[in-house]
Formats: sequence, C-alpha cells, structure tokens
Amino acid sequence: MAGLVAAARARELGAGAVVYEKGDRAGGSMLLSSGVVWRHRSLAEFHADCPRGEPALQRVLVDELDPALDWLEELGAPVTERTTGNERTVGRRFDPRGLTDALVRAARDVRLATPFRDAQLLATGGFGARLARDRGLLLRAAPWSEGDGLAYALARGADLSAGMDEFYGRNLPAQVGEDVFVRASQLYGTHALVLDTEGREFFPGEPSWSETDLVQATARQPDAAAWYVVDQRALRRPVRERTVADLLDEARAVGGDIRPAEELPFPLPASPKLREPPFLAVQVRAAVTHTIGGLRIDERARVLDAAGEPVAGLHAAGADAGGIFTGGYGSGLAAALVFGRRAAESALRC
Ligand SMILES: Cc1cc2nc3c(=O)[nH]c(=O)nc-3n(C[C@H](O)[C@H](O)[C@H](O)COP(=O)(O)OP(=O)(O)OC[C@H]3O[C@@H](n4cnc5c(N)ncnc54)[C@H](O)[C@@H]3O)c2cc1C
Repeated sequence: MAGLVAAARARELGAGAVVYEKGDRAGGSMLLSSGVVWRHRSLAEFHADCPRGEPALQRVLVDELDPALDWLEELGAPVTERTTGNERTVGRRFDPRGLTDALVRAARDVRLATPFRDAQLLATGGFGARLARDRGLLLRAAPWSEGDGLAYALARGADLSAGMDEFYGRNLPAQVGEDVFVRASQLYGTHALVLDTEGREFFPGEPSWSETDLVQATARQPDAAAWYVVDQRALRRPVRERTVADLLDEARAVGGDIRPAEELPFPLPASPKLREPPFLAVQVRAAVTHTIGGLRIDERARVLDAAGEPVAGLHAAGADAGGIFTGGYGSGLAAALVFGRRAAESALRC
C-alpha cells in the first residue's frame, strides 16, 4: 500500500514516480486485507496499547489519518463502512479491491514482477515472509515481503527500530489460502482455555483485545502451536459479527484439527473457562501478517542512521518502517497511508 500511496501523492504534487512491484499483482497485503484503516481515539490510548512505540510517530498517525482518509476517498477508493465496528478505534472500511484500483490509477506507472534495484522510497512491506519461514510459522500475508527494503537500507547505513522480533498476526487452524485469511482466523483466545501441545497453560492472564500478544506467545511454543479448548457457553459468544461456533465451522471447513476435548493427548487441567460440557478443542498455529520492527524513521519518514541522522535521499513507509506499534498493535494500513504520503512530501522537499 505505502508505495502506491507515495506515488499517488508524488503525482499529485507534480512529480514523476515509478512503483516497482516484485509481485505479479499490485496491492501486496492491502489487497488481502479487511480494508479497515483506523486509529486509536487518542494518542494516549494509542501509546497505552503500543507502549514501546515512538510517541512522535504515533502522534503523526493520530493527527493525520482523518484527512488522509478523505484524500483516499477523493481518489475514488470506495468506503463500505464509516465505522470500524470497534469502540476503541475510529476509521473507515474500504473495499480492498477498489482501494487498490484507485491507488494504482493515481500512481499511474506500476511495473509488476519487477523488484526494485535502486530506491528513494522503500515500501516493500517488511519481512513477514522471511520471519515466518525462519521461525517455522504460518504466513497470513502476501508472499513477497522478504525484507528486501531493509537489506537495501542497511547497506546504506540505516539503523533499525525496536521490536525486530515482534509481528502482528493471527492464530490459524492450518495454512489456508489467501482468500480465507480473514475468515479462518481463530480470534477467540479470550474465551478459550489455551494450552500448548503438552497440555500446559502458557499464556498468563487475559489476551489483549487484538490477541496479538497471544499469537506471539503461541509462536514461541513447540511447533508454534496451541490448543483452544472451549465449552458450550464459549461457542455462543460473539466475535465481531460472528460467533465462536462460526469460527470453529470455518476451522473445520479448511481441514483444521477439531476434536472432543477427551480425545486430546493429555489430561485437561481444571479451568473456570470450562463449565458447560461437552468441550471442544481446536488446534491453532501462529501466522504472521506483518513485522512490527523495521527501519528507524523520523516524523518525515526519512530513514535514520544509528546517530539519528537522515540517510541522504532515503525514505521508508508501511511495514518497512518500524517503531510505530512496538509492544502492541495498530492499523498497518493507516501507517502505510499516513507515512506513505509523508514520505512523498518529504522526498520532494529534499
Ligand atoms: C488478511 C489480512 C487482513 C488485514 N486486515 C487489515 C485491516 O483491516 N486493517 C489494517 O490496518 N491492516 C490490515 N492488514 C495489514 C495490512 O494489509 C498491512 O499492514 C499493509 O498492507 C502494509 O502496507 P505495506 O505497504 O507496508 O505492505 P504491502 O501492502 O504488503 O505492500 C508491500 C509491497 O511491496 C512489494 N515488494 C516486496 N518486496 C519487493 C521488492 N524487492 N521490490 C519491489 N516490490 C516489493 C510486495 O509485493 C507488496 O506488493 C491485513 C493484512 C492481511 C494479510
């Protein structure tokens, strides 16, 4: 997303721009996303949710997202909902196909299946694909983000942000196709007794609302796997517009391992989460959507070196830029939008 946004903004400012795209289609993970571009209601709430993120970058996102959403609409990106469905956040939901098409139209020159060689502005989507492979995790994202932007910037003297081992992702019942990345995500750890593959509880307390912390903890378990055990009450609980029972149906539909809890290979520990039998167990594995750490940038999306000085002529945005969501979770689409625009504006000032 960030590369298309930056090119569209550069065109609007009267400059030329070429987007080099490694994949055989435009849009990267944005095209696969739910299209909800959002922010926390206030900087304080943002910082409380992402406590190790850079406050100066978080402020830019909070201050600039709303006009940037209007700009997207002016480009013709179709809004499908004007709320996020989450009381903690504000934003808009776009149709991902329409959003991608609008940005490609505005960017004009997008060269598919052409990895970049030299760049003024890096927007290669972080290194989620490499992280998933290296750590034996599933991938829930477009397959091309291998960290090429980071490698290029490091060779030019760039520094890295905090949180290089953090990622945003979901627990999935299996490696599913990209058409069901959203639907098959098992987002009910808060209603389940969560066990590792030996039957031990490994997550202390309640997961956060996004469950990103639970997914990252799952990634650290043997086989990066966990069992979610639920009772009949849990099955009736709502998860956004669906129920936990619906999510189990999705897991079944993609060939997940769902079984009566008595068929687990270990005895079930007693838990207040398991009151109304029969109990069902679903095996999940951690899946990476995008990395949280990345290149260190300033508020103008300039890539910084270890001394905090800009690397001449180099900007980064989207998941290539780290340090915004460290310690938590925020909207990757919002960061790509806001810092993609900023990067173009700053590059043209240089
Ligand atoms: C299933 C799913 C649901 C999601 N839902 C949401 C949501 O509702 N809200 C939200 O905020 N976020 C959501 N996200 C996350 C969001 O899609 C990402 O945060 C966002 O797309 C990141 O933008 P980006 O520009 O950094 O990466 P991308 O959009 O992935 O774009 C990076 C591009 O760089 C290309 N590239 C990689 N290497 C090279 C190279 N060497 N040369 C040239 N091009 C290269 C890639 O092919 C890709 O097209 C979701 C993601 C997924 C997968």
